[in-house]
Amino acid sequence: MSAPGVTDVPVLSVRDLRKYFPIRTGVLSRVTGHVKAVDGVSFDIHAGETFALVGESGCGKSTTGRTILRLTGATGGEVFYQGEDVLGASGERMRRLRKAMQIVFQDPYSALNPRMTVGAAIGEILRVHRKAAGAEVRERVEEVLVRCGLESYHSWRYPHEFSGGQRQRVVIARALALDPRFIVADEPISALDVSIQSQIINLLEELQDSFQLTYLFISHDLSVVRHMADRVGVMYLGKLVEVAEKREFYRQPLHPYSQALLSAIPVSDPTVKKKRIILQGDVPSPANPPSGCPFHTRCPYVMDVCRTVSPQLLQTETGHQVACHLVHPVT
Ligand code: SF4
Repeated sequence: MSAPGVTDVPVLSVRDLRKYFPIRTGVLSRVTGHVKAVDGVSFDIHAGETFALVGESGCGKSTTGRTILRLTGATGGEVFYQGEDVLGASGERMRRLRKAMQIVFQDPYSALNPRMTVGAAIGEILRVHRKAAGAEVRERVEEVLVRCGLESYHSWRYPHEFSGGQRQRVVIARALALDPRFIVADEPISALDVSIQSQIINLLEELQDSFQLTYLFISHDLSVVRHMADRVGVMYLGKLVEVAEKREFYRQPLHPYSQALLSAIPVSDPTVKKKRIILQGDVPSPANPPSGCPFHTRCPYVMDVCRTVSPQLLQTETGHQVACHLVHPVT
């Protein structure tokens, strides 16, 4: 597919993105197969929007985020940032794209160099990307630290001198330093104490409002996603199986896998009775995914056609995109 048109260009367009990891065996390390971590994923994210990717661990959501940012090479597909081809960019164009597209990792401790003060770490990024020089570097470092709820003197401290929540604020400040427009937030609160998770979520929301940021928010926690997201994409075995506007998704999920995920969220109102859908079996190996619908080995509604025909992600009248033969019967 070609680049989106110049009018109403989404901030990010992902088209048929694929990331396969080779499986090597034997003394000669021959490639004997592939793990299809991301397998034909397409979606758009518009300016100021938070698009959440959800699914169980290993479904490919983090690999999708990293492949979009070229932290790992894509096997195929296309990514456009404001109409610019990300996967084909090089030189000055790629340098510009790297400034505009940042990531906040799950584990703030391993995301920071333990031997550098946070001021030195953020300053290095500013210099490498020629965002600031000389005295401006310190000014900018202190500005982003304060903007993220820290103090300017924190720039002299090392990562181990911070609490987990403060470290995640440092990681967010580092992402913010280059003045990005698009941020991949990859499970940004799952390594933190529950008591401080909401502070980081509030910070991400404040920054989004202040700087018109667009987020790809990756999470396995559907309660947090309900709070953060504008639209939700559900991944299973490297594929998107449902995409919907948040309210519609939580009101009436259409894919059986989405229904099972949502049935597991606790409800705060004790008068509301909710039936938990227990899925049978484990997630199949992405190295050897099932034929037809990838969910057919666990789906409570499986039909014969599901075992042989792969359902396409198609739009419904309510605006959901769903990959399921129940919703879009094969004719
Ligand atoms: Fe279940 Fe079939 Fe729909 Fe897959 S296509 S989710 S197996 S009903």
